Amino acid sequence: MERLDAFMARANAAYYASHDPFADFTTAPEMSQAFGEVLGLWAAVVWQAMGSPNAVLLAEAGPGRGTLMADALRAITRMVPGFAAALSVHLIETSPSLRAEQAARIPGAMWHDDIAALPDGPLLLLANEFLDALPIRQFRRRGDGWTEHFVADGTLVELPAEAPGRAAEDGEIIERSDMAHDIVARLAGRIAGHGGAVLLVDYGPEHSGPGDSLQALRDGAPADPLVDPGMADLTAHVDFAGLAATARMAGASVQGPVPQGVFLTRLGLVQRSGALARSRPPAGASAIMQAASRLIEPHAMGRLFKAMVLCHPGLPPLPGFTA
Ligand code: SAH
Repeated sequence: MERLDAFMARANAAYYASHDPFADFTTAPEMSQAFGEVLGLWAAVVWQAMGSPNAVLLAEAGPGRGTLMADALRAITRMVPGFAAALSVHLIETSPSLRAEQAARIPGAMWHDDIAALPDGPLLLLANEFLDALPIRQFRRRGDGWTEHFVADGTLVELPAEAPGRAAEDGEIIERSDMAHDIVARLAGRIAGHGGAVLLVDYGPEHSGPGDSLQALRDGAPADPLVDPGMADLTAHVDFAGLAATARMAGASVQGPVPQGVFLTRLGLVQRSGALARSRPPAGASAIMQAASRLIEPHAMGRLFKAMVLCHPGLPPLPGFTA
């Protein structure tokens, strides 16, 4: 028997090491090169707001195929060469097979298993659909008390537990990712000390209430998260409000979250997509514009996905977070 977070950590480590996750789901950078390009230029503007330090870490957590960072670096090199000259690229990735894919796209990058291994210095870190893959715990209100979810042979087991510190009605589930809170606290503490910003793009409601958001995608279709660990991608909603509180406690400021559609529109994703479309034959052009709508439209990814930034308290309102 394992606690749910231990089960989820083991299942996802096995999944990311043995599967091509992008056969089961697609992510924003895989849909359009404009996504990584506008995020790269976002980082360049933040670097300028930091006073253009002559050495800065440009990092990404959970870079998948490395597409976002490759697109970001191409845009940065073309548009803001001073930032390109100042930055070193650091990738946080635990999967050996994904590291190999990233190496093919991002020459000169350095890899780390954990954010704790990042060298000191001002940091700009991007993370798209990283936090949703981190293990969660689930607590369930039972009468006056609480239980916690464990997994044994593909089935859920409830054991008596301490109160998780949030309210729920009888029978309701409260989720918490200790690992996400730990990572956010460490990143927030480090940018409060050394300067920088951490851009988190992920999915979840702004204020997450009770509920079970654990889901599994196997061969592109929804599956039971508790059976066959390592065969499916397990994710859960990101608790933006809870993580923002953790970041503030650790000394960082927080801007957002704002819906992804609003954020990307403010960063000029539509204009960039239009420019790309003009240089393509009709089929390619319409694919680029369709990807832009999917990323932005509220009924697609534009509303459930959100962007939030943790930053040094001295930084001004950053692009995308102010009208
Ligand atoms: N950001 C990418 C990929 C998202 S999939 C994109 O948008 O396409 C999640 C990524 O996080 C994968 O690269 C996976 O290997 C990585 N990952 C999952 N858990 C991790 C952990 N605990 N530490 C570091 N990387 C992790």
